[in-house]
Amino acid sequence: MKRIYYESWIAEVLLFFSYCETITVGPWVFTKLKETEVPQYVRNHECTHARQWTEMTLLTGLLLLVAVLAWGVSAWWFLVIPLLYYLWYGVEYVVRLCILRDGNKAYRAVSFEQEAYANEKYANYNENSAYFSWVKYLTE
Ligand SMILES: [Zn+2]
Repeated sequence: MKRIYYESWIAEVLLFFSYCETITVGPWVFTKLKETEVPQYVRNHECTHARQWTEMTLLTGLLLLVAVLAWGVSAWWFLVIPLLYYLWYGVEYVVRLCILRDGNKAYRAVSFEQEAYANEKYANYNENSAYFSWVKYLTE
């Protein structure tokens, strides 16, 4: 499955006011750059976020499926599952911002970012990492 979209209009729109050139949305990576311009560590970093999103979405989907079948919870909740990764990210960022009182430090301290930055130089990290590896960074 294609995961990285180069010279993407989606990246142009989403990052219009940002200095960033690449963004991960769900399981896909969008970049303003040409394929030859994206360093491998950036691909690794963004693909780690795509993997994290997939893990969160699958797990919460399975848990919600159980809740729907066992307790009759409304199936409408399936619509919010793709957003839970971003909700978790946002809540963790705010908590860390309250503790660290520095936006950049809080961003780097989010468990998803810690995993992505710590392993972006390992070429085969996403192939060889365990599921939910970002969890171990929650307490760091
Ligand atoms: Zn990141």
